[in-house]
Amino acid sequence: MHCSGAYSRQRADPYIGLSCGSRAAARVKHVLPSKREQSKQHTNPIQISINPTIATPTTREKATMCHGSGAHDVSPRSTTMNIEQRYFCLSTYFHQRFGQRVQKIPLHAGFSCPNRDGSLSTSGCVFCNPMGSGSGEKMQHMSLRDQYMWWRDTFYKKYKVQRFLAYLQSFTNTYGPLSKLTAVLDQLRDLPEIQGLCIGTRPDCVDREKISALAAFPGSECWLELGLQSSNDSTLKKINRGHDAASFARAATMASEEGLAVCAHIIAGLPGESRENFLQTIAFVNDLPVQGIKIHNLYVCRGTTLGTWWEHDNYVPLQRAEYIDWVIHGLAILRPDIVIHRINGDPQPGELLAPAWAGNKSQILQAIHNELCSQDIWQGQLSGYAATQPPWFSRSYQGDIPPCR
Ligand code: SF4
Repeated sequence: MHCSGAYSRQRADPYIGLSCGSRAAARVKHVLPSKREQSKQHTNPIQISINPTIATPTTREKATMCHGSGAHDVSPRSTTMNIEQRYFCLSTYFHQRFGQRVQKIPLHAGFSCPNRDGSLSTSGCVFCNPMGSGSGEKMQHMSLRDQYMWWRDTFYKKYKVQRFLAYLQSFTNTYGPLSKLTAVLDQLRDLPEIQGLCIGTRPDCVDREKISALAAFPGSECWLELGLQSSNDSTLKKINRGHDAASFARAATMASEEGLAVCAHIIAGLPGESRENFLQTIAFVNDLPVQGIKIHNLYVCRGTTLGTWWEHDNYVPLQRAEYIDWVIHGLAILRPDIVIHRINGDPQPGELLAPAWAGNKSQILQAIHNELCSQDIWQGQLSGYAATQPPWFSRSYQGDIPPCR
């Protein structure tokens, strides 16, 4: 699926049963009219500023109208209908696509990471904990099917969810030979009620063959979650990522060409980074064929290099108010067709060292919503494509989404 493509809004998903690559081809048919229309509407798109100033009155009354409803990978969200959505969140996207809630199921497939096993380094990214920044390691002794079935039954009993995506989250899930990846995909393809796949990896661990294998996975959704973190190469070096921003751009472009949806992972508050650096990263993502984004606040975990820096006063996390300010202004310049998969990090129990505010996910989400409302900001407001709140931020929207790139 190219980012310039329009998403289908039919509740009965016409793409079920097609591979991701076939789906992309099907969606291209929807793209062309919308693209032409869009080019007429935006012959002079506004240049994105990385120093946005949004002069609007602060009205505390508006804040009370906001309903928190961020999209989360694992945690359940409120079922309250959001009547004033300020961004295009993942749960909204799923409701438009499937007419019901879709749950991502975290699976641990036993992959490692070149930044951990010595191929690139043994210390990993400075913020990465020994679990590989994932949450499924407690189940790694179980087969993928058993992990999936356990979560599926749990979510069904608790929330009556009947649509699921397999989510390979921990470590680098395309690392190693192609045969390893295809063996994992073979275990997933026939799981009950599975609608597709989300797979997290590094941009330097994908190639055309692996992307083609992912594109052939059955189901209506196939998201490649690619770590970028920052578009600033000196920051990437400082945090020991082991790849540069150009590597991300190449991988995202290749994935998009093969019909995968790309979700970029970025972080606010990286060592040495300013608000301007963060906004530059958003602008970098805007220019690529990316359909989703995860925005994380950088928090300090036990057992990490960052933890040592923090203990020796060599790293100071963002204040909560700073993070909220960065995020809402990042949203203002973000393309409005990009689905927000996450808008804050979510530490595992017991791993958080600092800042304390990072441990309360729901409060952060609510504060972001409140601030978006009180400053009258919405996703894409300064992107040149969303002079008013786009209708597709609402769950009930059934039309196409015009290309915004
Ligand atoms: S690429 Fe991912 S798994 Fe590997 S060290 Fe970095 S954060 Fe950890």
